[in-house]
This record gives sequence, structure tokens and C-alpha cells, in this order.
Amino acid sequence: MDIDRLLSQIRTEIQPQIGRGRVADYIPALAEVAPDQFGMAIALATGECHGVGDWLKPFSLQSISKIFSLALALAENEESIWTRVGREPSGNAFNSLVQLEYENGIPRNPFINAGALVVTDHLSGVVDCAADAVLQLLRIESGNPDIGYDLQVAESETAHADRTLALAHFLASYGNLRGDVPTVVDEYVRQCAIAISCRDLALAGLFLARHGLRRDGSRMLSPSQTKRINAVMLTCGTYDAAGEFAYRVGLPGKSGVGGGILATVPGRCSIAVWGPGLDNRGNSVAGVAALDRFTTLTGWSVF
Ligand code: GLU
Repeated sequence: MDIDRLLSQIRTEIQPQIGRGRVADYIPALAEVAPDQFGMAIALATGECHGVGDWLKPFSLQSISKIFSLALALAENEESIWTRVGREPSGNAFNSLVQLEYENGIPRNPFINAGALVVTDHLSGVVDCAADAVLQLLRIESGNPDIGYDLQVAESETAHADRTLALAHFLASYGNLRGDVPTVVDEYVRQCAIAISCRDLALAGLFLARHGLRRDGSRMLSPSQTKRINAVMLTCGTYDAAGEFAYRVGLPGKSGVGGGILATVPGRCSIAVWGPGLDNRGNSVAGVAALDRFTTLTGWSVF
């Protein structure tokens, strides 16, 4: 398959979607991002990477970081994480407080904010700093040591983190937070504020397509653990639109409010797309359209 040609065909076909949707503005620094940008990268299981558009331009990783913190927690042989967080779709907003109350402080899944706070907290128990561990993993797997935090985004989110702090306090009140609230929230906000390009994200996510093998061939996760992360991405990775995403794209995917989506074709490749305009569920309009075209044109889906 001629991947460069495929990418340019996808870019042309989705052109009308680029710039559509609304840029996230509840984190003020994200509201400044120009909506009419689009990038897409495909990293093949061999490590070869192709891209189109703004594929080398860094954007805000946001919730996509939740995949990497979960992977690191599981890689540390921390299966006990599943006693603290579930793996069912939430059917509620990603930052909802109510569900946490009536489910006694056990978040529905690791990809809603409450669940991600628990994973960050869990990971902090086994590494020095959860956010730095995520950053280090991204740097090594992408081969790019220059990936870093966007401190402006981190500060902006910290200044508007009332809801995240509330979730963390709530978790603490149920005994489901071990670290202190400000530290856990700070590490969570920083892992979300990592700036990364589609190229580096596709390469960093390749272990999900390689059944748990890292870039250097060493094993990070067992095939079974990797299957489970992909499964949770499929059912819980795209906010309250996971059903629609599975219907249109048919791949495990995780989106973030920065407009990125990381998707996996097990055994074949990892795909990163970025378009800052979000639909009313919080997923990138151009990104979902591009992945939809990708699976339709290639037939590479899990179904
Ligand atoms: N840092 C963002 C928040 O906690 C992440 C949201 C997202 O990408 O879903 O609100």
C-alpha cells in the first residue's frame, strides 16, 4: 500500500471538515489555537512513519496522556489498579462529579477525569513523578528527546482547575486517593499539558499495535494487557461518543480536548490525527472524519 498517497487522498477528502467544530475554551490557553489546522501520521509496526499536513506541529496531548499513564501503571505490574477504577463506559461527561458520588468514589473507567486522577495517583506510588514518567515514555518511544510540557497550557489549566480539584477531593473523601490532592492534580494537569506532534504520538503509541513491545523490542506489556488497554479505548476512549466512534471508525481510539486522537490497528499500525475543532461530544471533527476515511479506504479495522 502507498501510505503517502493514501494520506494525501484522505487529506483531500476531508478538506471540508478542516476548521469545523469549536476549539476547547474551558482551558483558556487552548482557545488561542487556530482551528483550521490538520495533521495525520501513520506509524507502521515496523517503525516506519508517514504523515500529511501539520503532522510535525506539536499540539496539546490532553486526555490522550491517560493511555500512557495507564500503560505505565500496568507495566509496573500494578493490576491492583482495577480495584480502584472500573472499565465501563460512563455515559456521563468526562469531568462529571455526580456519578462518582453514587458509585462511592470508584470512577467508571481510567479515561474519565476521575479515573485518570486515580491512575496518576497509583502511578505516583511506584515512580518518582507520574507526569515525568509519561513524558519520558513519550520521548523514548518516539525517539524525540525534545518533547516537553507546554507550561502556558499547564498554568492556564491550573488556574481553572476547580472541577478537577473537586473530583480529587471527592476521591480522597472515599479513601481512593493516596497522595495529597494538590500534588496529584498538578501531576495530572502536567501530563495533559505535554505538547506533541502527530508523528511523535503515532510512534509513541506503537506499542499498542505491537502487542506490548516497545521501540527497542523489549516488552512493556503482555499481549493480554495491551489488548485490554485497546479494549478500554474502544469502549471508553472518545467521551460519550464511543458508540458512534466504533460505528464510524471501528478502531480503539483515545481523543483529547486539544483535538488529537490516537488510534490503533492491532498488529499493523498506530495512527495519530489532529484537528483542533471539536464536535459537541468533544472529539475532533476533522480527526474522526480522517479516521473514518482511513478504515473505509484500507479495510483496516478491528471488525
Ligand atoms: N486536562 C483536561 C481536563 O482535565 C483533559 C480533558 C480531555 O482532554 O478530555 O479537563
